[in-house]
Amino acid sequence: QAKSEGKAGYQFFSQEMNQVTMRRVALETGMRQGLARGEFYLYFQPQWDLKTLRLTGAEALLRWHSAEFGMVGPDEFIPIAESCGFIFDLGDLVLREACLHAVAWDGVCPGLKVAVNISGRQFRQPDFLQTVASVIEETGVRPSSLELEFTESVIMERAEKNIDALQALKKMGVRLSIDDFGTGYSSLNYLKHFPIDAIKIDRSFIADLVTDSDDAAIAEAIISMAHSLKLKVIAEGVESDDQLDFLADRRCDEAQGFYFAPPMPGEDFTSYVKRFSGLEDDSKPLSVAG
Ligand code: C2E
Ligand code: MG
Ligand code: MG
Ligand code: MG
Repeated sequence: QAKSEGKAGYQFFSQEMNQVTMRRVALETGMRQGLARGEFYLYFQPQWDLKTLRLTGAEALLRWHSAEFGMVGPDEFIPIAESCGFIFDLGDLVLREACLHAVAWDGVCPGLKVAVNISGRQFRQPDFLQTVASVIEETGVRPSSLELEFTESVIMERAEKNIDALQALKKMGVRLSIDDFGTGYSSLNYLKHFPIDAIKIDRSFIADLVTDSDDAAIAEAIISMAHSLKLKVIAEGVESDDQLDFLADRRCDEAQGFYFAPPMPGEDFTSYVKRFSGLEDDSKPLSVAG
């Protein structure tokens, strides 16, 4: 009896595996076609300075609207693109598009920055530095308007080599930040060795900031540590007044999240910039929620 159960269990498992594998393979093929068909595009999520109450820029977030699969989220397709090497094409597209947008915003509200997520494999690609340099040159983006986001784990693997690469990026004048801070490696030692400008507190610590005293303590500790190291702090996933008050009280530098606005298409962000950069009469910073 145990034997037959085991067999049924195995069959069930392998059927499920097959479905996952089949979707993966299908998405992989779909991605290549999707790129050619222009199915990939960027959304932008506004970032606000909590001290000056000014818009500072936006994070570029990749979207894929597939004719075949509908909307596929980056949490699903980025890992697949990483494992099949498609991330190189995708990463180039993101970097280029993001910089072109930043150039356009510069005409409306000078100094806005665009933050771009960089995946591990993209960063480890031998010609990554060259790619960044060419994109800066070809798009004419102000290097200080470009911020590259790396997760802790990406920064930590091959730490020695990464220091050189990050330093080269700093020399180009781009800004560097650590994404999802607090969820990866616990070693903080690297922070003092790496030429980082900012850290982004992961939204898992922000979610229950006001009700969970552990999360509050962690967020507070991250902010004060970052400031001691002369790093800026950006909170992600801010959804409520209370979270914002907490963060502003602790002198968190910047924030993004649904409280201000969800990620939006490029044209919408341009209107948003016009609306909130004092160019229109009814502009009122931080009045977006609700
Ligand atoms: P991330 O870089 O940490 O991006 C933040 C994610 O949080 C985004 O999800 C955003 O839509 C979501 N978010 C923003 N505000 C709120 C909020 O107030 N509440 C909640 N619950 N969520 C909020 P998204 O766009 O699905 O992206 C997920 C992840 O996919 C990103 O995490 C990033 O790791 C990756 N990703 C997105 N675009 C790219 C890209 O162009 N390149 C690479 N390599 N990775 C990307
Ligand atoms: Mg990010
Ligand atoms: Mg993040
Ligand atoms: Mg994330």
